[in-house]
Amino acid sequence: MSQRQRMGNQPMIVLSEESQRTSGKDAQTMNITAGKAVAESTRTTLGPKGMDKMLVDSSGSVVVTNDGVTILKEMDIDHPAANMIVEVSETQEDEVGDGTTSAVVVAGELLDQAEELIDQDIHPTTLAQGYRQAAEEAKNILSEESIDVSPDDEETLIEIASTAMTGKGAESARDHLAELVVDAVVAIADGDDIDTENVAVEKVVGGSIDNSELVEGVIVDKERVNDNMPYAVEDASVALFDDGIEVAETEIDAEVNVTDPDQLQQFIDQEEEQLRELVDELVDVGADVVFADGGIDDMAQHYLAQEGILAVRRSKSADLRRLARATDGRVVSNLSDLTEDDLGYAGSVAQKDIGGDERIFVEDVDDARAVTLILRGGTEHVVDEVERAVDDSLGVVRTTLQDGQVLPGGGAPETELALQLRDFADSVGGREQLAVEAFADALEVIPRTLAENAGLDPIDSLVDLRSRHDAGEIGAGLDAYSGDVIDMESEGVVEPRRVKTQAIESATEAAVMILRIDDVIAAGELKGGGTDDGGDDPAGGPGGPGGAGGMGGMGGMGGMGGAM
Ligand code: ADP
Ligand code: MG
Repeated sequence: MSQRQRMGNQPMIVLSEESQRTSGKDAQTMNITAGKAVAESTRTTLGPKGMDKMLVDSSGSVVVTNDGVTILKEMDIDHPAANMIVEVSETQEDEVGDGTTSAVVVAGELLDQAEELIDQDIHPTTLAQGYRQAAEEAKNILSEESIDVSPDDEETLIEIASTAMTGKGAESARDHLAELVVDAVVAIADGDDIDTENVAVEKVVGGSIDNSELVEGVIVDKERVNDNMPYAVEDASVALFDDGIEVAETEIDAEVNVTDPDQLQQFIDQEEEQLRELVDELVDVGADVVFADGGIDDMAQHYLAQEGILAVRRSKSADLRRLARATDGRVVSNLSDLTEDDLGYAGSVAQKDIGGDERIFVEDVDDARAVTLILRGGTEHVVDEVERAVDDSLGVVRTTLQDGQVLPGGGAPETELALQLRDFADSVGGREQLAVEAFADALEVIPRTLAENAGLDPIDSLVDLRSRHDAGEIGAGLDAYSGDVIDMESEGVVEPRRVKTQAIESATEAAVMILRIDDVIAAGELKGGGTDDGGDDPAGGPGGPGGAGGMGGMGGMGGMGGAM
């Protein structure tokens, strides 16, 4: 019916001609289809045996990845309901850093299950209520099932770091990288206050992933400003200065009238004197190295070199902040305020070649609260994907240190939740019971997909998993490599609890939000689908505004993933 409302026999038009409107069942079908399509597009990447996707943007640049949130971000999705599913992965990325594919796959399956119930005339509001109840209960169950991890339990932390990197192109060096990640996060952690921004990542093309290393300190992508300065300084006192070492320029364009050569010389002497004083401030407090935010005048460079000071100009303020954290120094904005207390300390400051580039390494610090991971790999695409894997891994280690609770992986928690939620459903009763049962079924999409992606029979695997959980083995999960159902905790496949609870929470919210929509009014034409006169099309249907038509490109992506 769209934009034409009827009043008596006269159609009354309340929306502009360009607006498009889809309502009732059509709107639901359209949104559910779009949401499911997004989820479907990432499904083949789930788990250690998941495939990768090659994403090519309009400028031809290529990303090869297995990371859910990266895929969805690169896909350039237009459909509003589809975007709500993309947001699920973004929230997951922000909150935990891992589990982005799982969250989206669960959201898609919640929509799929809902579709069946809507066909059986269950009202979307009832569904939404049942889903919410189920999600709440699921979180309770998970907190009962989770295992405590102490922050000193390095072995478990490494397992967690390693699980998050499974199947992400870092396979051969996973254990090595996991150790680096744990060391990095532990180094920068200040109790619960853990900002993974303080773990800088330097990507180097060349060498193998095995050669990746952790520098307890900071690598600055700069060279010393003058060749006469030392290459390396040991036991260095480091000054951090967020201005330049230059003659102060006057704000207003001042004109200096010089009438004779003496006056000119005097003027130059004065400038040199000023620069000399600035350098002396550094010398007086005993600085051996200075990182300046601004430029460094040639004359000042000369004086600094004479004093044996290693100076770096135009340092980024993010680097200055990291340097301050790493060396326990303070960034000053005025050299005349500089005191010995402001200086940081590093056992070694040296300019070194890394992957054909000269950089300044500031390391051997007492208590590095800013560190740098040097990731190496054979090609740019490899290093990029390793960086994404490491990113997820940093996130899970941080989350575990903050929450102190983990769960077994490999579909174990989802199978257990499904089992317990089916019991819980009986206590709910009414029509919501059906929704809770549907929610339980939806969670099993995770073990089912892990099995499918590992080339196993999903039904056999699920039957096996269910019976083991029935027998009380809450940690039983699917080993994607052997195909056996085993105890995941003893296998070292563990994930932070928050990966699971956050995924359930955002997937439920997005599904519920999409299900409750029964009217889509779009000003102008929705991109990527529909016909101009969609309003006159009595059925609306998949040809309506947006609809499945807009998802055509994604179907292709899904196919590509499978083919690789
Ligand atoms: P996500 O973006 O959701 O993290 P992944 O592709 O990283 O997607 O897959 C995560 C899933 O893979 C989780 O359910 C996790 O428990 C599972 N998993 C990780 N390692 C293993 C393993 N060795 N065997 C079986 N499942 C595993
Ligand atoms: Mg993951």
